[in-house]
Amino acid sequence: MHIHEYQAKTLFSHNNIQTPKGILISNTKQASKACSELGGSVWVVKAQVHAGGRGKGGGVILCRSVMEVEVACDKLLGGQLITPQTDAKGLPINQVLVEAGQNIEQELYLGLLIDRQTQKITVLASTEGGMDIEKVASETPDKIIKFGVEPLGALSEKSCAEIAEKLGLNAELTEQFNRALLGLYDIFVQKDVSLIEINPLITTAENTLLALDGKIDFDDNALYRHEDILALRDISQEDEKEMTASEYQLNYISLNGTIGCMVNGAGLAMATMDLIEHHGGSSANFLDVGGGTTAQRVAKAFELIQTEKNVSGVLVNIFGGIVRCDLIAEGILQAIEKVGLNLPIVVRLEGTNAAAGLKLLDESGVAIHTESDLTQAAIKIVELSK
Ligand code: GDP
Ligand code: MN
Repeated sequence: MHIHEYQAKTLFSHNNIQTPKGILISNTKQASKACSELGGSVWVVKAQVHAGGRGKGGGVILCRSVMEVEVACDKLLGGQLITPQTDAKGLPINQVLVEAGQNIEQELYLGLLIDRQTQKITVLASTEGGMDIEKVASETPDKIIKFGVEPLGALSEKSCAEIAEKLGLNAELTEQFNRALLGLYDIFVQKDVSLIEINPLITTAENTLLALDGKIDFDDNALYRHEDILALRDISQEDEKEMTASEYQLNYISLNGTIGCMVNGAGLAMATMDLIEHHGGSSANFLDVGGGTTAQRVAKAFELIQTEKNVSGVLVNIFGGIVRCDLIAEGILQAIEKVGLNLPIVVRLEGTNAAAGLKLLDESGVAIHTESDLTQAAIKIVELSK
């Protein structure tokens, strides 16, 4: 799960990480009051959406008067923000963060993630923070400092200071850096975070270290034990299809290929996608309809697949263990009755009540290709969807 910058900054400030003063608003009418509460004469208006690259997308606007702040709020609020990290439609801007502008001396990068290769929580730091950190990582990877923390150990102040030294920070900044990094590490471990990032972490002319941005991704599988984090969820920022899917307890992810897949079990779903790929096709989605599924859920899943943009064929692959194949067949037929069928569809049913399911489909009068062999089914759908 992602959260907004302003929410990340609240967590930051509770964990010894300094942030600029800021006020969240959802209406331009609140802008001038926010400016006077913040004081100063420079403000930054920042679109709150679940995507990075906002600076490049025009979602971070530097303002030198209250009027400019109002114009910026008017421009952003109620619109969609398109950034290099969103799709062409962008994400809705329902709130903006108005912050006191800062005198930036240097933009650093600081983040923590799980490095699966070393199996450690890894600190990433760089003197080359800012909007082009991806370019730094790919073109000059030696400018990224990496430090792995033993999973059962802890991050020591000494290690923080070593990283600060590599970043070239003076004594005063080093002290602030140590506190900030230890705070980040605490949030990471306590809240089951998978990625936490401050980019940029700035140094100012006043010799302070401030988190100018904040990004946190949480491990969805651990959210059940973090009600406070779950309360931060903003569904307006989530993919509509994936959301509908989660309402129906379907595990659904949109992909770029052309063959819609409906499979039970994540492992079988991946194997099915591999087979499609092996025979020259590509998947339009990942979908695991799960164990004890119902005809209604299958119908919903089928609808979702059909609304995928590039889909030119559907492969259903069900291995009936707990789930009964006749229920799956019923669900498919219900969905076709409701949304119609204008795509080739291949169905492979195996296991509990497979014969009954296949019979239902064969006798339905709907043009469905049935197969009992998975490889044949994959070959068939690749051929039909061309
Ligand atoms: P992102 O593009 O989504 O990562 O949004 P950021 O919050 O990182 O903002 C993008 C850029 O805007 C930063 O890298 C800064 O260069 C700039 N920026 C943000 N806040 C301020 C500020 O208070 N003062 C100045 N001068 N620049 C800022
Ligand atoms: Mn940023």
